[in-house]
Amino acid sequence: MTDTTYITDAGVVDWRKMAAEITICKTPFIDGRYVESASEQTYECINPATGQSLGKFLAGAPEDIDRTVAASRRSFQRGDWCGITPRARQTVILRLADLIRRHAPTLALLDTLQIGKPVRQSLADVHWASQFFQYYAEAADKIYDSAVPSDNRTFATIRRAPHGVVGAIVPWNFPIVNAAIKLGPALMAGNSVVLKPSELSPASALYLASLAQEVGLPDGVLNVTPGFGETVGAALASHQDVDMLTFTGSTATGRRITQLAGASNLKPIMLECGGKSPHVVLPDVQDLDRIADIVAADIFRNQGQVCSAGSRLLVHEKIAPELLAKVRRQAQSIAPGDPLDPDCVFGPLASHAQLQRVMSYIDQGRMEGAQLICGGNRLQEESGGFFLEPTVFSKVGEKSCLATEEIFGPVLSVLTFSSAGEAVRLANATPYGLAATVWTRDTSLGEAMAQKITAGMVTVRDDRSSGAGGGMALASEPSRLSGFGAQGGIYGLHPYTRLKAVQHLLAAPYLGEA
Ligand code: NAD
Repeated sequence: MTDTTYITDAGVVDWRKMAAEITICKTPFIDGRYVESASEQTYECINPATGQSLGKFLAGAPEDIDRTVAASRRSFQRGDWCGITPRARQTVILRLADLIRRHAPTLALLDTLQIGKPVRQSLADVHWASQFFQYYAEAADKIYDSAVPSDNRTFATIRRAPHGVVGAIVPWNFPIVNAAIKLGPALMAGNSVVLKPSELSPASALYLASLAQEVGLPDGVLNVTPGFGETVGAALASHQDVDMLTFTGSTATGRRITQLAGASNLKPIMLECGGKSPHVVLPDVQDLDRIADIVAADIFRNQGQVCSAGSRLLVHEKIAPELLAKVRRQAQSIAPGDPLDPDCVFGPLASHAQLQRVMSYIDQGRMEGAQLICGGNRLQEESGGFFLEPTVFSKVGEKSCLATEEIFGPVLSVLTFSSAGEAVRLANATPYGLAATVWTRDTSLGEAMAQKITAGMVTVRDDRSSGAGGGMALASEPSRLSGFGAQGGIYGLHPYTRLKAVQHLLAAPYLGEA
């Protein structure tokens, strides 16, 4: 049995001991407290590393959403959050960011137990989530409304007002981070929020709600209603009293949400959906070892369950054999392990359904004639866990499922090109538009390609790059089937507000004789 002790900011943690003792919250958090669901229906939440049950979780019911939206509406009308100064909101959210860091081991462990993410990565996620709260809290009193040029008897303003009640539906792949990306800007803009976490991973969001209450967030401002998407999520998306809906998840669910929002009260929505992002490698690069490292790390992080993962490697035919051999070596060097082991970098897939889905893509890829370079097999089945080898395919047809569909697993598809123009065409040859990376030492060429590639975020780099990137300040907006709406940075606040013009038409007062 591996040693699972680890030193965190909170001291020495023995993850396995902590896992055996942890209490997992399972009930909705509405109006400042944990409450019963309207439905007694339950489901087993499975630890994907062992196949063992983590206990019975509440399936939730549409009535839970009615109750939660009503509590959110009451809090918004009371005004004890939206009506206070941005600086006062900032104080509370900064405290929350700090408390999240202090509870990092618990939050990280909850995510690891529910989705099998290596605990070290879960811990990094918690700090990342905390930074989102901190970033938006710090921004709160630095954003100005505008005064409009006019005559001297008009005082016209444009203000950013909160929507009111915001519904947030999030997926399981980065449970705490996906919650924070929504909650940070939505709360700082003054909204009251109903958060619906994924049925696979509600525990960290439910725990977070109690931390928000501890730092003084008024009752009803942050509510967490767990349950299934088709019932609880759909009730939120179609609710007549939800003013705005923010969603992260698959494109298929994004389409459904769009229909529900349109058929109910026409609430504005933002969608962050799937992707099929390319790494494009031009032949002027030199350090192929470094590129292979980064390409492999990008597709195999979180077992490939990352929306922006570089799941396609588009490489110039001149360097393709050498780069492919190095990527294969990297893939084969990754050993799936117990996610509670602090040294583990690659855990199981998040659920049995996810394992089956990814394996069916592997089978289909084989049938379509792609060449399996490594991986493709389930591992450690006797453990009960859902482990899969890091997998690489080459000779992938550009119209095949491996080249065009989001697999959301540790599967890299390699295609070759013979010119920069062909690389751009291939980069754009999927229905998605989330992210892309271009590897070249020619900055002008990289910039020209970035302009032609349809993606919300394009990174141009070479094998010597050491820049850290734009970090929290970077904002982007996906395109095509990857969704719409700005996420990240100051622009990421905008979808959570509505422009409101208020103008005062003034009389010309008589000032008396000068
Ligand atoms: P999913 O679409 O199955 O579920 C996402 C959320 O929607 C869950 O909370 C689920 O319960 C809910 N849901 C499901 N059906 C619903 C319905 N009919 N009405 C309302 N809500 C419903 O996605 P998933 O499997 O949880 O997550 C994986 C997907 O998320 C991938 O496609 C991935 O690319 C995407 N993702 C995108 C980003 C991004 O920023 N673009 C980030 C992370 C994940």
